[in-house]
Amino acid sequence: MSSTHPLTNPATGQVFTTVPSYDLEETDRAIERAVHAAPSWRAVTPSDRARLLRRFADVVDGHIEELAQLEVTNSGHTIANARWEAGNVRDVLLYYSGAPERHCGRQIPVAGGVDLTFYEPIGVVGIIVPWNFPMPIAAWGLAPALAAGNTVVLKPALLTPLTAIRLGELALEAGLPEGVVQILPGDGAVVGGRFVTHRDVRKVCFTGSNAVGRSIMQGCAEQIKRVTLELGGKSANIIFADADVARAAAGAPYAVFDNAGQDCCARSRLLVQASAYDTFMEHFEAAVKKVKVLDPADELSEMGPLISAAQRESVAGYVEESTVVFRGHAPSGPGFWMAPTVLDAPDHTGRAFREEIFGPVVSVTRFNDEAEAVAIANESPFGLSGSIWSRDVGRALRVARALESGALSVNSNSSVRYATPFGGYKQSGLGRELGPDALLGFSEEKNVFIATEE
Ligand code: NAD
Repeated sequence: MSSTHPLTNPATGQVFTTVPSYDLEETDRAIERAVHAAPSWRAVTPSDRARLLRRFADVVDGHIEELAQLEVTNSGHTIANARWEAGNVRDVLLYYSGAPERHCGRQIPVAGGVDLTFYEPIGVVGIIVPWNFPMPIAAWGLAPALAAGNTVVLKPALLTPLTAIRLGELALEAGLPEGVVQILPGDGAVVGGRFVTHRDVRKVCFTGSNAVGRSIMQGCAEQIKRVTLELGGKSANIIFADADVARAAAGAPYAVFDNAGQDCCARSRLLVQASAYDTFMEHFEAAVKKVKVLDPADELSEMGPLISAAQRESVAGYVEESTVVFRGHAPSGPGFWMAPTVLDAPDHTGRAFREEIFGPVVSVTRFNDEAEAVAIANESPFGLSGSIWSRDVGRALRVARALESGALSVNSNSSVRYATPFGGYKQSGLGRELGPDALLGFSEEKNVFIATEE
């Protein structure tokens, strides 16, 4: 490799290893290998492809602890979260191991013959992964892309490549042929940029920031290249007075401070009905102050550090220009720590209320009625996730239908299940991942008409 990149443990601020960085020529050679591997991979029978994906899942299952420990060191994720993330890779591979044998085309009634549709692989797929959830996001692209018969080149984020590199090795150990899955650590503009410009990469599956996502979409336009975008969020957590307010407040810290708020689904706008505001805030303050911000390797840790000094600085900038209502606790000393922080946003116009902060910061505002709650929530250019807390099931459904957002939960803060579709409205993205239809995003649909008339 022509160069290397140092990796820093976010909990200590210390460099702990270096990794190779692919340059343009190495990227091109990897893409050539993926092109070369494509015909034999698409010819693998559906049952054998399914078997290989199950084997890949089994091998990952045997390495959950190793993968989790790597993520703790490289990304500062709490050990509990990191184990869940490695388990999610296994589960996503298993879920899509059922897909090759069920990826059925259709027979459509037409005059004069028989009409058949086929789902065929697109070819080489380039997957670009951000630093906030290195394992799950890699798997959400990898598993359905492979199940649909594509070969994959995957670029992890510059800061967090270790688990993806290990997953690439485990794929080989599981028996996936050489060239079917390749992990290319390196600079975004170099490796990721090449996925966009290289004519043999037929689809780019990107998760990351809106600025880079926009440039990728523009670049892909040149070749009318297929593209999926999973971008930012500024999701609302809406608490109606008729909810179990104590329960909503107890869960609200974890809806935004999980992964230190570096979560595209973070409910970083709290909308509380004015009549329940005081009760909610009393319970919420107690819950925020109880969040265990500890060394991520500690089994009890609920929140770790931010990913980098630069990220902490960017987050701190939002806090400095806002009114802090209260804060939780965080360790002092080395590492990129920040305490969970609650901001007041009475007129919901400030930068902290509108922009994705990607840190442990939530802005609280009040609303008077359902219409106002929906209007405030929909003010955002983003539309990824969100929660609605109410005991009135009619209201909860009405609000869920009115919100311009792709992944909502009622009386819950969970956004992601591998069996259900995930993706954003508006500027939160384009296309959907996960769920029963994910293979459609990695397939071309071909229609064949066979004349039967003499
Ligand atoms: P980023 O856009 O800086 O980087 C994402 C990836 O793109 C990295 O691998 C990076 O190296 C690569 N990249 C950078 N410049 C590139 C270029 N010019 N061409 C091609 N690739 C390039 O994002 P990030 O800071 O790593 O991640 C945080 C962002 O990701 C947040 O905005 C967050 O909301 C978003 N995100 C979205 C989802 C979702 O599913 N919607 C999930 C996780 C994260």
